[in-house]
Amino acid sequence: MRAAVFDSTTATPGAWLSIEEIPRPEPRPGVVLIKVRACGVCRTDLHIVERDLKLLEPRIIPGHQIVGEVVEGATEILPAGTRVGVSWIGGVDGDCWFCRHGMENLCDHPVFTGYSVNGGYAEFAAVRADFANPLPAGLEPIHAAPLLCAGVIGFRSLRVAGVEHGERVGLYGFGSSASLAIRILHAWDCQVYVVARGEQHRKAAEALGAAWVGDEDAKPPVELDRAITFAPAGKVVVDALSALRKGGVVAINAIHLDQMPAFDYDRLLWGERQLRSVANMTRQDARDFLTLASHLDFRPAVATFSLDDANRALEAVKHETADGSAVIVP
Ligand SMILES: [Zn+2]
Ligand SMILES: [Zn+2]
Repeated sequence: MRAAVFDSTTATPGAWLSIEEIPRPEPRPGVVLIKVRACGVCRTDLHIVERDLKLLEPRIIPGHQIVGEVVEGATEILPAGTRVGVSWIGGVDGDCWFCRHGMENLCDHPVFTGYSVNGGYAEFAAVRADFANPLPAGLEPIHAAPLLCAGVIGFRSLRVAGVEHGERVGLYGFGSSASLAIRILHAWDCQVYVVARGEQHRKAAEALGAAWVGDEDAKPPVELDRAITFAPAGKVVVDALSALRKGGVVAINAIHLDQMPAFDYDRLLWGERQLRSVANMTRQDARDFLTLASHLDFRPAVATFSLDDANRALEAVKHETADGSAVIVP
């Protein structure tokens, strides 16, 4: 099969991936082989090939937003031809304390698609059958692929924040994850207050029907029930906290934050306000989100690239030049 491989010994900036002919993965128990129809390109992929993330494998096929069809290793639950979506969490050990307590997103021994095991920048991918999420009818591969990372995590953030129908919810930062979250919030009859730095992001929030939009120094005109922060900045978390009613929750959707500024406990956290981080996702998050995405007819704008152009796709993500989410169609 053809694949775009990141070989850490030969990769150079801009030519991170080499397009190679390599053996198709052999079926193994518990693993299904899928024919890749589309694979989203995420900023995390760039962090992997630029070595911002620790190198786990010297040679790896990136890609953790895979949509494909089962071609080998079919099971009763996943008959041949089933369309599935595979995300960043490609497996867990199933027996650590977290897995046994319904928190597989925090598993001590997780498998990461396209990072610790080969991902979807290829014609075929071998994935754990129990982590291949059946795709609801109506979701097209190229539109479903970009939903499998930012979309699912954005959805999980709403869960971690404990959003209930009709609430007032703040979104701090307005990139791809937030622009999907706002549509879910509207489907739940929530009023959405957006604080965003870029003019373009604020315009996008207005166009998507935010109740109020402000720049990074603005404060929503009402007290918020919940807030989700997307920016990797501690200041933003404190801003969100200062807009919260008593008993409200801030969910931090960022893997890394710069320094968290000191803040006034008595005024900002007292009153049973909560600060929570959002880490990874569970299979249930992915499945529930995909069902919702299909009901809400999510069709994110995409820019497609062939497998041969995988480096160009990464380049487009790096410089934010793609018109929509970058998706590789092998
Ligand atoms: Zn575990
Ligand atoms: Zn991702």
